Amino acid sequence: NFARRPLVAGNWKMNGLHAALSEIDAIATGFDAGLREKIDLLICPPATLLAAAAARLEGTDVALGGQDCHAQVSGAHTGDVSALMLADAGARFVIVGHSERRADHGESDGLVLAKARAALSAGLMPIVCIGETRGERDAGQAESVVAAQIAGSLPPEAPPERLVVAYEPVWAIGTGLTPTPQDVARMHGFARQRIEALGPGKGAATRILYGGSVKPENARELLRVSDVDGALVGGASLKAKDFLAIAAAY
Ligand code: PEP
Repeated sequence: NFARRPLVAGNWKMNGLHAALSEIDAIATGFDAGLREKIDLLICPPATLLAAAAARLEGTDVALGGQDCHAQVSGAHTGDVSALMLADAGARFVIVGHSERRADHGESDGLVLAKARAALSAGLMPIVCIGETRGERDAGQAESVVAAQIAGSLPPEAPPERLVVAYEPVWAIGTGLTPTPQDVARMHGFARQRIEALGPGKGAATRILYGGSVKPENARELLRVSDVDGALVGGASLKAKDFLAIAAAY
């Protein structure tokens, strides 16, 4: 299914000075013809590195993305960056609704939806993050939380090839813990059903990435799970060697 070509995406979070551009170079060099044939590769550095990274990646197949955007195109929003600005700096994707933004900045589903729409308007591909906390999982609410996030933060009007979803159980992010492959299969299958409810055919055509402590050692096991169309990688994307080893699971 061409629409669900695997995507391996790196989220550098608030890490990376200009010296880290050497890792971007190494990622580009390591994204060889064999891998390029099979997957899409994306790196989301901090906004301060986007323009320089775009210059380094020109002519390569490594895509660039932002980590967040404002819902407005421009205006009196000190410190914020718009989707159009990210696109202007060379991004093609933007992560929205990451659990760290939902937690640290109190972002609601409604705000995440507005950001995803802003991304689409700017010609960017939004990667909308969803996922339950440990407490929600222990309370048996993982599915209802994910269902509400899908209903509330995915723009139903978006063509499935213009949108990516990342299922990231919050308790697996940066902890070294991961759900079992069976749990990942269950949650991705469930998410796909709920995405289908947004419009016929959407479930089958939308890429759903898994995120949360993906490492070279567990990538193969996690990425071959049914309904997993790639990975959103935090910590292990900071080093080109680890990130490429994850991509090489395909
Ligand atoms: C993330 O930030 O989206 C993430 C999955 O982080 P990590 O891989 O470090 O758990």
